[in-house]
Amino acid sequence: MMLEVDRLTAGYGRIRVLHDVSLTVGEAEIVALVGPNGAGKSTLLRAVTAMLPDRGGSVTVDGRELIGAGVETIAAAGVAHVPEGRRLFPGLSVRDNLRLGGWLGRNKDLSGVLDLFPALAGRLDQVAGSLSGGEQQMCAIARALMSRPRLLLIDELSLGLAPVLVDEILLRLTGIAESGTGVLLVEQDAGAALEIAHRGYVLELGEITLAGTAAELTADPRMRVAYLGEE
Ligand code: ATP
Repeated sequence: MMLEVDRLTAGYGRIRVLHDVSLTVGEAEIVALVGPNGAGKSTLLRAVTAMLPDRGGSVTVDGRELIGAGVETIAAAGVAHVPEGRRLFPGLSVRDNLRLGGWLGRNKDLSGVLDLFPALAGRLDQVAGSLSGGEQQMCAIARALMSRPRLLLIDELSLGLAPVLVDEILLRLTGIAESGTGVLLVEQDAGAALEIAHRGYVLELGEITLAGTAAELTADPRMRVAYLGEE
């Protein structure tokens, strides 16, 4: 598997948030990570991208260990993170935000990401802070893709977006995965995430409590009651 997370522990100072979490993401695979607020989903993505100092266990991408590795190794592993809240540079143009995303991978060619997100093409000179919420999310994903990542981590894709736009962006993710990129998707709307995901994990109180193919999870009674809105 491209990403192998093995017995990962992580937290903030003395607070332990993740307890022995193991999961994998393969090449060209979309994996959904669902769970209640505060379960540790964002922490898990941060731990994979080495934004957290307090970690134990193992995180490998294509066999390369990232825990304890330097920034060069982490950058070379090709992991791109779209954090919750998008974190664009609001005062910079869309073009400059995209170019900054490509800087690490020395990619200056915007055409690939503009093909994926044509809505951005006419807005390259607009400052990112003036984009609509949906356009900002597209810009954030496009910026991450500019580094031509092997693995794309996306946090709360649908936050603040109209359902029709969520569907459109999810559809784009399918295309991104088909080109070989692995996608780990954190999403409140478990139903929407499992529609495009191949597999999924449920994270509760910092532990994986359920895992399976998207079809298995969608059919699981616990999943249906807790996350898919069944009475
Ligand atoms: P949500 O769906 O609400 O975004 P989540 O599953 O992504 O939740 P995390 O954001 O990973 O959950 O938070 C997990 C736990 O870690 C929470 O109890 C949170 O309060 C705590 N936490 C998150 N960031 C920090 C921090 N910087 N310092 C201390 N505790 C933190």
